[in-house]
Amino acid sequence: MIANPPSWPGGARCAVAITFDVDSDSALHYTHPRDGHRRLNAQSWLRYDQVAIPRIVSMFNELGLRQTFFMPGWCIERYPEIASAIVDGGQELAIHGYLHELGHEIPPELEEELLARTIAAAEHAAGKPPVGWRAPLYSFSDASPELLARAGLLYDSSLMGDDVPYLLETPAGELVELPIQTAADDWAQYAHSYDYDFLLPIQPPSRALEVFQAEIDAAIDFGGMWIAVWHPFVSGPPARLRRVRELLQRLLERGDVWVASLEEIATHVRSLEHSNKWTPRRERVPYYTEPIPELGLLARATATTAAA
Ligand code: ZN
Repeated sequence: MIANPPSWPGGARCAVAITFDVDSDSALHYTHPRDGHRRLNAQSWLRYDQVAIPRIVSMFNELGLRQTFFMPGWCIERYPEIASAIVDGGQELAIHGYLHELGHEIPPELEEELLARTIAAAEHAAGKPPVGWRAPLYSFSDASPELLARAGLLYDSSLMGDDVPYLLETPAGELVELPIQTAADDWAQYAHSYDYDFLLPIQPPSRALEVFQAEIDAAIDFGGMWIAVWHPFVSGPPARLRRVRELLQRLLERGDVWVASLEEIATHVRSLEHSNKWTPRRERVPYYTEPIPELGLLARATATTAAA
């Protein structure tokens, strides 16, 4: 199924990472700039991060795990105690936009300015610059790869182009891509929010874990990688998190699954490549720099139909 899987440390059959996007109420203000500040109920749900993060960090510590938490720069500035809980708990602090802005909606100059501010906030919180990025709501823009490489980041974990890590070739150098998929996102299982117009039937944790477990089983069988894209205010409540703990315990007891932070996985990929032990697939990005010319054909056809 997977043509060219990498070898994983210790002879592990696959790599697994449980990553959390710590959005808090950033996206609420970005999505509702006029009245986000008045939506106190939504704010309270999203600020559940403050309750969930210490619980999740201590769970990882009890299991002996170092995992990755992505925070928007605004959240690091606004909620320094959350960033401290992550850093002091020995976990990786990575970055996730500034105010959860969507890269394709803003000009590259602003994306670059917000990236610099976010890197500064994370560096201040962690005492070292961040190495990882995930685009808010998967909105990795055509400008993102070059901006991230120029800023010195090691990896991105926003794209969906493979089952195993690959390399992005950008005009400013290479980035390790640690791909994800929407089946790994907890919103699809649990999110029910009037403020975000996101109203799905809420699944029981057993059903959500069934979806995630099927993906992990395939990663184990075919030498792949599986990265959870979860949120503390979604997966952090007790009924859900205790199932996550059971899942992690089962994976660790197997002894052949490498549960690692994304920084560790990206560093491993780089070392395999530098020692010629594995040749990752490469993709030159962005794929397009302007609208495709064939759109002109369709525009002419539409005009002809309208004239007729
Ligand atoms: Zn997010």
